[in-house]
Amino acid sequence: MKITKLHDLYFKEFISADEISNIVSSLAEQVRKDLPSNEVPIFIGILNGCFVFTADFLREYKGNCEISFVKLSSYQGTSSTENVKSLIGLNEDLSGRTVIILEDIIDTGTTLQEIYEIFKTKNLKELKIVTLFYKPDVYRKELHIDYIGKGIDDKFIVGYGLDYKGYGRNLPAIYQLTTPPKMKNIV
Ligand code: 5GP
Repeated sequence: MKITKLHDLYFKEFISADEISNIVSSLAEQVRKDLPSNEVPIFIGILNGCFVFTADFLREYKGNCEISFVKLSSYQGTSSTENVKSLIGLNEDLSGRTVIILEDIIDTGTTLQEIYEIFKTKNLKELKIVTLFYKPDVYRKELHIDYIGKGIDDKFIVGYGLDYKGYGRNLPAIYQLTTPPKMKNIV
């Protein structure tokens, strides 16, 4: 079993790089198949975690498309209780466009809902949501997720763009939190 230590915690390999690659190509193929052949969607990757997934997904997407990245930021509004969300990096005019959001992981769905509320105001032709990973046991929203790569249990994962305290984003596989191992298993 492959085990790695990131900062102060141990993680074991949970989803191999090969399995991820199959999931990503199948997602890209499904999305392409469901769009009219002349449709040029704009994919929007939600930073930071989505950057690895987005790069692989796009190379598997066999059609014309555009890509942009955004980051959700929150700041204090005019009153102390008001927490305003905005998207940094959204410069394109999206009106009349088919927008496809690319998420690395959807957990409670709070982030997704906030992003959705912002895109909803942009007069889009269509909005679709793709996520690589999804935790069905903790998802709390009604919002429909159009494409799900893989449902996983409610355990913290790292790798393939996802981090723990900034570490682990460069791991090619997905690792799951585990208990400290015997020393010989550590890579
Ligand atoms: P939500 O708003 O759906 O509860 O959480 C979404 C965000 O939380 C993700 O975009 C990701 O940044 C973070 N997140 C949720 N679950 C995990 C996980 O298992 N591992 C990592 N590294 N981040 C997670």
